[in-house]
Amino acid sequence: MYDVIVVGSGPSGSYLSYELSKKGYDVLNLEEHREIGKPVECTGLVSERVFKYVKSKAGINSVHGANVYFPNGKSIHISKSEKTIVMYRDDFDKDVSAMAINAGADVKINSRVMDVSVNDEYAEVKYKQDGRIKYEKSKIVVGADGANSRVRKSLNYEMPKKIISTYQVDSAYSIEDQDDVNVFIGSENSKGFFGWAVPSGDITRIGVGVDHVTAIKYFKNINKKFGESKILGINAGPIPINYLKKTYGNRSLLIGDAAGIVKPLSGGGIYTGIISAKNAAIAIDHALKNEDYSEKYLSEYQKLWKREIGFELKKDAIIQRYFASISINDKLLNKIYENINDGNIIKKINELGDIDYPSRVVLSIILKKPVLLKYLIMKR
Ligand SMILES: Cc1cc2nc3c(=O)[nH]c(=O)nc-3n(C[C@H](O)[C@H](O)[C@H](O)COP(=O)(O)OP(=O)(O)OC[C@H]3O[C@@H](n4cnc5c(N)ncnc54)[C@H](O)[C@@H]3O)c2cc1C
Repeated sequence: MYDVIVVGSGPSGSYLSYELSKKGYDVLNLEEHREIGKPVECTGLVSERVFKYVKSKAGINSVHGANVYFPNGKSIHISKSEKTIVMYRDDFDKDVSAMAINAGADVKINSRVMDVSVNDEYAEVKYKQDGRIKYEKSKIVVGADGANSRVRKSLNYEMPKKIISTYQVDSAYSIEDQDDVNVFIGSENSKGFFGWAVPSGDITRIGVGVDHVTAIKYFKNINKKFGESKILGINAGPIPINYLKKTYGNRSLLIGDAAGIVKPLSGGGIYTGIISAKNAAIAIDHALKNEDYSEKYLSEYQKLWKREIGFELKKDAIIQRYFASISINDKLLNKIYENINDGNIIKKINELGDIDYPSRVVLSIILKKPVLLKYLIMKR
């Protein structure tokens, strides 16, 4: 019997497998695909914080700023001294998985988990490997199997409340300005989220997220700005942007996208997934040492990750809900543009802007320009 079975070899599952194997535990990590990191469903934009945890050379470009385009076609430019990395996401996932394997984890690819159950004695995982049904037991099972988590479903966890649909392409369009990400808001560009174009050398990652509508119409509007038909590949996927109320159970935990531990304002989940994995490793270590796998004991996991990033995710979720409600109100968005297109405000954004902690900048803008509150409350 394994100490822990981790389902999914995305960044969250591999990082957890690494941390636990490093501590000397017997870890089985199951991945449904034949290749770690494929298919890619990601823009690959992360802060440098991520590389404190994962030693990876998957970076392809680094950017220092963003152009945010409003419905009136005008944009504000934000710039930072710290860089944000654009990476090859598949290479990154392979690097995290290699860390886990080198620490001693038993990683099995082409192994799709079909069902998971827990009882007083053990957790049991049923999976299909190379066409054959297999079973493995462990003391604890972890769902790191992404937005459509099978572990979550099998163990009757709640479903994520809000899921953003996306459509993204790699386009053979090289943006001249390689130092800025482009963000598009307003009714032409998205409903409930935003569109983006991220420079990655000769390729540009162009995409859009939407809430409860199909993304393609909005994607076409954004893609028009970037050479339209130069598509090299399409990748899309769901982003659960609100974390679950309960991310632990008897002999089980959910981490990363499976638990909806994702930044609601940007949809970024690599950093938050790794933070959830790091805290899961601490709670699992305590549970294994004390041989207590009860829901009550494993609830430590949720306390730990919430202490580290819960407050930020909560604030971001409130701001995101509001933004979603005005995302098609072009008149209001343009008014916001007129108010924040001001040297002092941009300076503040540049000072406080942080891809992992975005609420700080939103709150400080409102404090600097209280008139914005009037528009925001009246929504016109
Ligand atoms: C279009 C798009 C763009 C994005 N851009 C960014 C970005 O720029 N920056 C950022 O930080 N985040 C971004 N995200 C979000 C980011 O991709 C996720 O938050 C991140 O991948 C979560 O990692 P994870 O390990 O929790 O889950 P995943 O990366 O989804 O990994 C889950 C793994 O589990 C495997 N799996 C699933 N089911 C099973 C099963 N039954 N059996 C075995 N294995 C299974 C999957 O194959 C996968 O390998 C983006 C998402 C999308 C859709």
